Amino acid sequence: MDAPAPRTFDLIEHSNADHARTVLVDWMLGNGCSYACSYCPAALHDGSLRWQPAEAVLAFYDRLHRHYVHHRGRRVWLQFTGGEPTMHPRIIPLLEAATERGFSVSLISNASRTLRFWQRIAPHLDSVILTYHNEFAELDHFRAVGRLLAERMPVHINVTMRPDHFDRTLAEARALREAMPSASITLKPLRVDFDDVLFDYSPGQLAAMEAGLPATGPAQGAMPRGTMTAEAAGAPPQRVRANEFVIRGENRWQGYLCNAGLESLRVKGDGSITRAVCSVGGEIGRLGGEIALPAAPVTCTAGTCACVADILITKVRPAARR
Ligand code: SF4
Ligand code: SF4
Repeated sequence: MDAPAPRTFDLIEHSNADHARTVLVDWMLGNGCSYACSYCPAALHDGSLRWQPAEAVLAFYDRLHRHYVHHRGRRVWLQFTGGEPTMHPRIIPLLEAATERGFSVSLISNASRTLRFWQRIAPHLDSVILTYHNEFAELDHFRAVGRLLAERMPVHINVTMRPDHFDRTLAEARALREAMPSASITLKPLRVDFDDVLFDYSPGQLAAMEAGLPATGPAQGAMPRGTMTAEAAGAPPQRVRANEFVIRGENRWQGYLCNAGLESLRVKGDGSITRAVCSVGGEIGRLGGEIALPAAPVTCTAGTCACVADILITKVRPAARR
């Protein structure tokens, strides 16, 4: 079976209007991790960066509140990543301080910490993205954490699909599907070094990932992002999942006007700050220093929009600007 032909869209916008007013801050607190997955570059898990100081984190919370909430009426949604963000030594006070400021908070986690820890922090979370890495994760523990959280908040599960362990991983993903009917699950295609080249999947594996494992129950709350609605001249608007853009090779928007920096920010592990994961527009400041928060969209200069968080940002093709 051949891969479907890429489509060109004039406008890619959030299907949900709340997502369009949400500034999603992808925030890497450090690079320590409890795992060392074979497909993960060392810089993302080797602990070579110090965890960011709590004082600098809290000062940036206040900047974000002033710029986006107070002046622009937007909602700030912090999404902490690592490494494994739950390993930050001050993670509990940082989560409490975010709640005090009215921010929404998500964690992207491998779920490896104890059930007791997750019970303690659950009141400060609005959603979680749990990634199931079966080179290290234990299915029963992951399932228990996922169930605990899915009773209280939306849970999205990424299952990383190594092509050489595909069938076993798919069976485990189905077990997670059965245990957490309300969770959304992505069968996540892996990219070499987390860059833009996909691992060597068979057409059948690509089709299985594109078909996914749809949720069978209602989620308990809101997520900061969902699907996009894509428009092209002469065709009805269509809902598209981030994964579909990647699998069809459509995630190339050089020259488009992009709301990176208005709907998104990225704080890297070393404290540098950019509009989005792609770094288009360059560094806009550093934690603990001067930061010029954006007030206008940016023209995309990247060859590929490689990251799911970046794909889920509003984009307009210049010729199609209204
Ligand atoms: S859990 Fe995530 S950060 Fe840690 S090694 Fe695996 S892919 Fe890398
Ligand atoms: S690569 Fe960056 S600037 Fe380009 S479309 Fe994606 S998020 Fe926007």
